[in-house]
Amino acid sequence: MPVRSKDNFLVFGAPRIEQDEIDEVVASMKSGWIGTGPKVARFEKDFSQYVDAPYAAACNSCTAALHLSLVALGLKPGDEVITTPLTFCASVNAIIHAGCTPVLADVDPVTQNIDPVSIREKITPRTRAILPVHFAGRPCDMDSIMAIADQHGLKVVEDCAHAIETTYKGRHAGTFGNFGCFSFYVTKNVCTGEGGMVIARDEEDIRTVKVLGLHGMSADAWKRFSDEGYKHYEVVHAGFKYNMMDIQAAIGIHQLNRVEENFKRRCEIWDMYQEAFRALPVGIPAPEEPDTRHARHLYTIMLDPVACGIDRDQFLVRLTKENIGAGVHYLAIPEHPYYQERYGWKLEDTPHAVALGRETISLPLSAKLTDDDVADVIKAVNICLGA
Ligand SMILES: *Cc1c(COP(=O)(O)O)cnc(C)c1O
Repeated sequence: MPVRSKDNFLVFGAPRIEQDEIDEVVASMKSGWIGTGPKVARFEKDFSQYVDAPYAAACNSCTAALHLSLVALGLKPGDEVITTPLTFCASVNAIIHAGCTPVLADVDPVTQNIDPVSIREKITPRTRAILPVHFAGRPCDMDSIMAIADQHGLKVVEDCAHAIETTYKGRHAGTFGNFGCFSFYVTKNVCTGEGGMVIARDEEDIRTVKVLGLHGMSADAWKRFSDEGYKHYEVVHAGFKYNMMDIQAAIGIHQLNRVEENFKRRCEIWDMYQEAFRALPVGIPAPEEPDTRHARHLYTIMLDPVACGIDRDQFLVRLTKENIGAGVHYLAIPEHPYYQERYGWKLEDTPHAVALGRETISLPLSAKLTDDDVADVIKAVNICLGA
């Protein structure tokens, strides 16, 4: 008998949606403003207050947020952007679509974040920017990264897809670089179905992002059709169609209200996992660094096949048989054929990321999980390890 029945499969990353979100979406539908309107403006304001950033621009994904940020920096073809190999493909694809060349620095094997020592080794005369990813919600070493950026005159775009609640020395992730990019995809800590946010320190930068994100038009559509009468728009860039809808913001506003409550619940689950897995032959997340807050977006364990007697992929098969969902974050970027063929990247160039990517597995960590759900995951992990 599996730990859970098939019709009770524990879905990885299931969002916690409550009545407030449902009512707000219905209110948007009834108001007639379903596109980009007042709720998007409110969500931007609420979000910028939460992360203590002066400016924010909502868009329809973090992928869009990253793309807009990189285009807004005015980078040119051939410019190099250094990022991590232990990330979602979107971080790298955004660099490519901005016309730049991605360069991979390896990660620190303990924090799993981009290693500043490796960043320094990858700097060339063509390097223009660094794109750190706060992996799993653990902040990158921003003091070192910003010092490198200052020394070499580089821009910084932070991928904060995992890092809404993350802080580093009292400041929120995303407020260090020129831009911080957030995701509200279903599995993320705040979800809007699909959605993203760019934050910036500079008003002119956020204006550029807003214009680029709506066709390159100089005014928002919802202002254009307001009761102030029709206004002509001017196209000032070849922009994109990346705006967020009020229906999405309606969900986001209430999700954001509950961000700290959900974070607390994930901390409890995290502690239960740490306690339960400490004695097992798996690797567990390192403690958070002093004066930082880890957002607890992903709880990952490492399966060394020698120590565990089972490899990661076999473990995934067994866990699925127990009807527990899991994720892999991530197979390292150089494992994928497109990047190998286009950039000639070799696995041995970023050995830590490749090794982690082959051993890592992410267990369910949604705030929606009950104590019984967590107990099922713990039981299933023990069974899969034959412990
Ligand atoms: C989810 C994710 C993205 C992309 O976010 P979307 O909102 O789905 O576009 C980018 N980077 C990282 C690290 C992510 O986890």
